[in-house]
Amino acid sequence: MQTDRPPARYRCTACGNLTRFEVTMTRRTRAFHHFTIGGELSIEDTEVLSEDVESVECRWCGTSASVVQVDPDEIEATDPDAGARPDDAARSDAGSAAGA
Ligand SMILES: [Zn+2]
Repeated sequence: MQTDRPPARYRCTACGNLTRFEVTMTRRTRAFHHFTIGGELSIEDTEVLSEDVESVECRWCGTSASVVQVDPDEIEATDPDAGARPDDAARSDAGSAAGA
């Protein structure tokens, strides 16, 4: 699948949810449908011609009333998962045990 732009990000202002949403959308696409002689279908080169988001509901609140669309850059700064770098913590004292 191809996307020209980064996906929209959402935030529920009622519960603070940033990651779980029920999104209802209408998408108009054009794609290359490649069939085998046996009828097996492989869909390639999907191009999104238009996309209309009808509703975005918070998975926990069950309503779209408090969901707002936010700038992805804004989430990078506040999302606890986005800043985690587990590799750096594990790397720091490797070799201290093996040195002797
Ligand atoms: Zn919520």
